[in-house]
Amino acid sequence: VGEAAVASEDRRHGPPIEIYFFPFVGGGHQIPMLDLARLFSTIPSVHATVLTTSSHHPLPPLPASIAVLYLSDVYLDTSLSALPVTDTSHLAEPLRNLLVDRSPDCIVVDGFHRWSPAVIGPLGVPRIAFSGNGSFAQAVRDAIQRTGVAYAASDDYEEFVVPDIPDKILMTRSQLPPYQRRPLNPGEEKGMVWPHDFMEGCFGVLINSFFDLEGSYVEYFRKKMGRSWVVGPVSLCNEAMEDKLGRGKKADIDRVSCLSWLDGKGEKEVIYVSFGSLARMSMSQLVEIAHGLESSGCSFIWVIGNVRAEERGEDWMPAGFEERIARTGKGLLIRGWAPQLVILEHPSVGGFLTHCGWNSTLEGVTAGVPMVTFPITAEQFFNEKLVTDVLGIGVKVGSRDWSSWSTEAKEPVGREKIERAVRRVMRGGGEQADEMRKRAGELARKAREAVEEGGSSWEDARGLVAELHDRRKLRARVSSMIVQGD
Ligand code: UDP
Repeated sequence: VGEAAVASEDRRHGPPIEIYFFPFVGGGHQIPMLDLARLFSTIPSVHATVLTTSSHHPLPPLPASIAVLYLSDVYLDTSLSALPVTDTSHLAEPLRNLLVDRSPDCIVVDGFHRWSPAVIGPLGVPRIAFSGNGSFAQAVRDAIQRTGVAYAASDDYEEFVVPDIPDKILMTRSQLPPYQRRPLNPGEEKGMVWPHDFMEGCFGVLINSFFDLEGSYVEYFRKKMGRSWVVGPVSLCNEAMEDKLGRGKKADIDRVSCLSWLDGKGEKEVIYVSFGSLARMSMSQLVEIAHGLESSGCSFIWVIGNVRAEERGEDWMPAGFEERIARTGKGLLIRGWAPQLVILEHPSVGGFLTHCGWNSTLEGVTAGVPMVTFPITAEQFFNEKLVTDVLGIGVKVGSRDWSSWSTEAKEPVGREKIERAVRRVMRGGGEQADEMRKRAGELARKAREAVEEGGSSWEDARGLVAELHDRRKLRARVSSMIVQGD
């Protein structure tokens, strides 16, 4: 049936629209871009191709309908541990050659390939930008940057209201990256105020989100920043258990032990704790988290990820912690990579302590769980405000300071704060927790509706494809006119 449908689409539209997807290597970027490729590959008139770098480090398995092209055999770490500053400009020439050779209908490019507009622009291939951020975060960043409101605060901890946006959002300068805390020097803009310069001259922006989650910010974006297609949550295209388990990396816990541990718990009893693909926590922060979780009395799954390199191998756990949680069955530690989608969707999971990376935030929303927000870096403090102050589905743990991936936070968030926030979102957290859970469940339902046939994300994705079809037809007409003119 699938092939027949493709053949009939081909007759209607001609050969499929060729969309190239050029992901960046970090987890929070590569994972949603591969999901985007999956999502578009399910549209019958589209053929999706993923560009990658080295056959020595293959991508996770993808459906056979998606092609993979290797740009070069230069080693580029695809282990999801690359940092946003990783320079990929050695791929410029191979990319140019490929695009000249194949001229796809469009290319979706991660904004961290900062050099790519200069390569793609002159070739006339429509470039669609992908930053991995939601509309809210991009709008808040834009409003802060454009108005310079943060510069006027008397110190780093004085709250200011973000101007020009639909909700009243309070921020402090300490929650912003250093380059947003002061006016930029001339020449500093390029590469810094990303994604503004990356968006310049692009065909439009793809956003992993859905309209009902942040509709007024989708509109803000379209009015003030540029065209966007809002097509998520993209994680929902991983329907099969195998896809969920293999997403990103192979999980460091086997499915059976993870699921049987969860099966042994009551409904919504467990809080899932994870800080994303890059988390590098200091030992002092890990200790506070361990104490906070234990004294909350809740059951928990805690993904420990990477400990800071210089502290690896040191024993940071509170005395007897690991034995105790194993004996009482209160906690499960996962060192390395967790099958996050599988865990979040399990009925025993009733809360998510998250660093507010956008993918995790959206996956929490999609699973319908209220969140404890523990932002650290990037645009995570903006995402926190969306979850707690706009959507009302989370409680702030109380992080105060933005810190870069490579530096340690000024002071760790204390165990009492962690315990209190966890208690407030989990079962037994009273009326406020019940309300949050109800709202989160409602948003989860809307997330699914958005990607179903006729939903807002479904429509946006098809709108983009229809536009690419029109563009192709127009080009064909123009070239036949040129030939006739000859
Ligand atoms: N992830 C996962 N297992 C882990 C850690 C992360 O599956 O142990 C996935 C998670 O589901 C999400 C992505 O990695 O899709 C992390 O992206 P996010 O934007 O939340 O954070 P980042 O890694 O960019 O800080």
